[in-house]
Amino acid sequence: MKINTDLLPSQNMPELPEVETVRQGLEIHLLDTKISKVILNRDDLRFPFPPNFISELTGRTVKSVRRRAKYLLISLDDNLTWLCHLGMTGRWTLIGDGIESTPGKFSNGAPVGTGSGPHDWVIIHLENGKQAVFSDHRRFGYMDCFKSTEEKQHRLLKNLGPEPTPSELTPEILASRLRGKKATIKSALLNQNNVAGLGNIYVCEILFRSGISPKKIAKNIAGKTGIPKKIVLMTSAIHDVIIEAIDAGGSTLQDFRGIGGDESIGYFSHNFAVYDRQGEECINSECNARIKRITQSNRSSFYCPNCQR
Ligand SMILES: [Zn+2]
Repeated sequence: MKINTDLLPSQNMPELPEVETVRQGLEIHLLDTKISKVILNRDDLRFPFPPNFISELTGRTVKSVRRRAKYLLISLDDNLTWLCHLGMTGRWTLIGDGIESTPGKFSNGAPVGTGSGPHDWVIIHLENGKQAVFSDHRRFGYMDCFKSTEEKQHRLLKNLGPEPTPSELTPEILASRLRGKKATIKSALLNQNNVAGLGNIYVCEILFRSGISPKKIAKNIAGKTGIPKKIVLMTSAIHDVIIEAIDAGGSTLQDFRGIGGDESIGYFSHNFAVYDRQGEECINSECNARIKRITQSNRSSFYCPNCQR
């Protein structure tokens, strides 16, 4: 029997909104600060650290903390970019006089980074006396560093589609990304090369708001020319769902909490219209149907068979 992994709490990965929460939390403490010392307590996480990781980062100043899809991109002076992916359970804790901040906090039993915990793999000492500790008990996270001028050609970044935000994704761009694609719309939206940063939960919600069945074929929605109304609807739904989720600090499934572990952050998870609601009544008051769950590419799709055609 195949186990559907996306419903197991321990399998839930931080999605784009959670990574954005972490980015904002890191930026407060890292920006314009010099890295004075780097300690690695392992040679690898999911992948080995680059060979000169410690010497490359040491002595450099943080110029910006950005996000691309689910990657954190920390620009350092002198043409270096430090990339970090949180994997499944990776997280950052900032420690120092009077502060302890964990932007993005898991509730699955993994301890918060202390600088000396059993899963604290990377410890960054900053010149301002603070420490940034990366803990990752399942070790699916990873880091890299490379010349900033080569960022666009980096193997992990070069094929990513546009960000799902209003400034990057227009109906024209979405239509062009889906045109000719024989995959279902569900798979096409999950494919990071079409649109970057959309996870399973968000795609289920986006398709419900757009009134589109997850089983529809992408190219049939995009059409051959022009911008079909469904594409315009779907573009707004993508923007709305992502912006609401970022404002809420992430989807906050069992693994994830916002800054400081605040339970009130996580609003978004209580407002799912279809995700994880199979058998329940559709939230549309004029609809009497119940939410269905099907499996597509080994991921669950939740949808209303009446509202989504
Ligand atoms: Zn319905």
